[in-house]
Amino acid sequence: MSCIFCRIVAGEIPAEVVDRTPDTLAFLDVTPLADGHTMVVPTAHVARIEDMTPAAADALFRTVQRLAGPVRKAVNAAGNTIGINDGDGSGQTVPHVHVHIVPRWPNDGGGSVHTIFRGGDRRPIKDVGAAIRTALGK
Ligand code: 5GP
Ligand code: ZN
Repeated sequence: MSCIFCRIVAGEIPAEVVDRTPDTLAFLDVTPLADGHTMVVPTAHVARIEDMTPAAADALFRTVQRLAGPVRKAVNAAGNTIGINDGDGSGQTVPHVHVHIVPRWPNDGGGSVHTIFRGGDRRPIKDVGAAIRTALGK
């Protein structure tokens, strides 16, 4: 088993585990972006969100939702940034789905999700909407 998060799920690699369900594991990031930086992963290996089963996706988001408040309160934060690097080009470094819960404070020096992206030309919104509806089979 080479996947590092599968090895954490299996208990082969130590981690600061904060929550466990049959379908999810939550543990602290080894190089935290902030105190309380928690990662929630599905226990079954899957690289990308789009490859998850609906049941696994339901379980993952339920755990994220259940942990968001306790993680934030444990470190006296004001909010959380919750995000997923999903696939090539996104910055995903571990190819096992993981949701970052990163506690936030006013003026903590970080930005919003919007600050990840740069300006530039964009296709017309109507065209992109049509392309996505087509991809969805609508
Ligand atoms: P990504 O960049 O793929 O969204 O995030 C991967 C995260 O996994 C990084 O924030 C990194 O610090 C964390 N990470 C990588 N290896 C380990 C590990 O062995 N244990 C823990 N707890 N976190 C890890
Ligand atoms: Zn894995």
